[in-house]
Amino acid sequence: MSKSNVPMLTVTGLKRVFDVSAPWLNRVLERKPRTFVRAVDGVGFSIDKGETFSLVGESGCGKSTVARLIVGLYEPTEGSISFEGVEIGPAAERAKHPDIQGRMQMIFQDPYASLNPRWRVGDIIAEPIRFRRLLKDKKALDDRVAALLTQVGLSPVDAAKYPHEFSGGQRQRISIARALAGEPEFLVCDEPTSALDVSVQAQILNLMKDLQRKLGLTYLFISHNLAVVYHVSDKVGVMYLGRLVEWADTQTLFNRPQHPYTRMLLDAIPDLDMSGRARVPVAGEVPSPLNPPPGCSFHPRCPFANERCKREVPKAIPVPGGAVACHAVEEGRLPPWKAQAAA
Ligand code: SF4
Repeated sequence: MSKSNVPMLTVTGLKRVFDVSAPWLNRVLERKPRTFVRAVDGVGFSIDKGETFSLVGESGCGKSTVARLIVGLYEPTEGSISFEGVEIGPAAERAKHPDIQGRMQMIFQDPYASLNPRWRVGDIIAEPIRFRRLLKDKKALDDRVAALLTQVGLSPVDAAKYPHEFSGGQRQRISIARALAGEPEFLVCDEPTSALDVSVQAQILNLMKDLQRKLGLTYLFISHNLAVVYHVSDKVGVMYLGRLVEWADTQTLFNRPQHPYTRMLLDAIPDLDMSGRARVPVAGEVPSPLNPPPGCSFHPRCPFANERCKREVPKAIPVPGGAVACHAVEEGRLPPWKAQAAA
């Protein structure tokens, strides 16, 4: 296979278990066992160059943990992460490829917390350039910072200001300029617009799409909001309690969702196709990941659950345009999507 045919990112059987036990003395005195959380439990997907793959799900489903595993902030408990075919999952493997680490960057949810309040914006944006020794000459560095500020819709004079002088949307533009400064090819965007007003969200999403087109960027986009995901994604994966329950190209997922959880999330978002469909709030709550339900972990909330669902974890099966892990889909007993969505 030629290098151009290798996906930019391939994730296989990815698992991450966190030890959330009480301190040793408490455990001994209270006779409690150690406690583990499977935050990510066998997730796999691939992203081609220039594509946007989105991971969606409610809070606590493990999507942000996947993002952090990919950029190396956490190490996988099991499974593989490869970048253009090179394994970078274990920290020791990643350390052998500092060039790859430089080719990926992360944009965080909170532009207030992710920018150092004591640094001028110019220094914040220049830091990755200095770190990667991309430019040494001061004039060239200043010119590059000015160009990056312009590229994200700000002014070169903003380099002399501090983060507190900007609005939330402007700060996220600064975060994007900083992420682009190291000339990455792959950006992991963890809820990049969820802390912003709706009108500002649209501006930032449009900026990200423009930059993708101009610079050929590849995105992993993390969001709890399917309406946001619809506008930016080529493919979407839906996560529930650490597992991918359905993934498909965006049109297939939004027009012919299969998994009952995907349908529940879609029923809860505003009517994208203006069909007059009513919004149905998401029913129930995500169970505690400390004590996930047996079998299909969605079964306590699922209107189609049967006895098999309560004891057997569903395996992903291919469906047109994607794959889905659900016994009802496999058994052909799921009603058509529209019948469920109509109010
Ligand atoms: Fe519902 Fe069963 Fe499918 Fe799980 S496997 S989503 S409980 S029908």
